[in-house]
Amino acid sequence: EAALTARFAIVGSGPAGCYLADALARAMNGAVIDVFERLDEPFGLVRFGVAPDHEATRAIARVLRRPFDRGAASLHLGVEVGRDIGLNALRRNYDAVALATGAPLDRRLDVPGEELAEPSGRFIRWINGHPEAVPPARLTGARRAVVIGAGNVALDAVRLLAKHREIDCLNPLALERIDLLIRAGPEDVRFSPAELLEIGELTTAWPDLDIFGDATGEAAAVLADFAARTPGRGIPIRFHFRTQATAFLGAGRLEAVGTDRSVLPADLAVTCIGYEKAAIDGVWPTGPEPEPGLYAVGWAARGPTGTIPTNRAEARALAQRMIAGLEP
Ligand SMILES: Cc1cc2nc3c(=O)[nH]c(=O)nc-3n(C[C@H](O)[C@H](O)[C@H](O)COP(=O)(O)OP(=O)(O)OC[C@H]3O[C@@H](n4cnc5c(N)ncnc54)[C@H](O)[C@@H]3O)c2cc1C
Repeated sequence: EAALTARFAIVGSGPAGCYLADALARAMNGAVIDVFERLDEPFGLVRFGVAPDHEATRAIARVLRRPFDRGAASLHLGVEVGRDIGLNALRRNYDAVALATGAPLDRRLDVPGEELAEPSGRFIRWINGHPEAVPPARLTGARRAVVIGAGNVALDAVRLLAKHREIDCLNPLALERIDLLIRAGPEDVRFSPAELLEIGELTTAWPDLDIFGDATGEAAAVLADFAARTPGRGIPIRFHFRTQATAFLGAGRLEAVGTDRSVLPADLAVTCIGYEKAAIDGVWPTGPEPEPGLYAVGWAARGPTGTIPTNRAEARALAQRMIAGLEP
């Protein structure tokens, strides 16, 4: 009978928290499942991270809401654990607690002048209308943008900048050139081929890169195809491989990005170099079970890697572990 009334608390309503609520509800009929979310809107990065032109991915919100719609779990919006309710209080009131709080902090490059650049989390939260969004320092008339990173968030930033005329908040830009700084070589990029292909399909911009050696892999094959093309129309997106940003230059506002090869004039720079977790009431989430009876899932558990489906598989496995860990 105890098992039938098990009580679970989940902190965070991103994909990991929602998939976990769904998996617990399906595995344990009648369990009490409460999901606490600090914002007034649910679904984490599906709402405030995924690019606005990736409608199909954003539509995953319809799947994430199912456990709440069918009454199998309760969603408590505007409740920040660690501020409005303590983690220890949750642990006393529930049989098991899972942290699904993501990795909300922007990683820093740690180079001089970094305050003149836009970190990607902040930039994309602003584009997506996050309630705590901070607008970039300079947009109106900005002609040159530099994006730094070798993963899909960098490609999101490049693509959205290239389409700035179609995106209300980016419309004041007047971009003529985008430079993409990639520390790795073409063989080591973490771009997914599908996101790269979208760059090749832009009508407002074209990928500008040189022919390179004999890199293998799907992403490198797309890059090699780009390199073989003739110059396109619109904004050139210049790929700089094996190039590191070393400084953001300017007096009060960005004027250039220094690299280990050259200095690139820039009115806007976006750093897309990853995210970090935050502690909650002094506990650093790390998964899957940071402390007995306290669990973690999604980016809070494994760090900021993997796609939305990765969180679903992980949530299902964690639900089994949480149920197995219930006291008899
Ligand atoms: C810019 C960007 C674009 C992306 N695009 C894609 C894509 O196109 N396709 C894809 O598959 N993946 C994409 N991803 C990855 C995907 O978003 C992540 O895999 C996924 O969101 C991680 O889920 P999560 O639940 O662990 O974290 P999150 O989605 O970050 O959710 C964490 C939730 O916890 C809440 N929270 C945090 N702290 C507290 C607290 N103390 N109390 C209460 N609530 C709290 C947050 O407000 C948030 O709602 C993208 C990621 C980024 C950053």
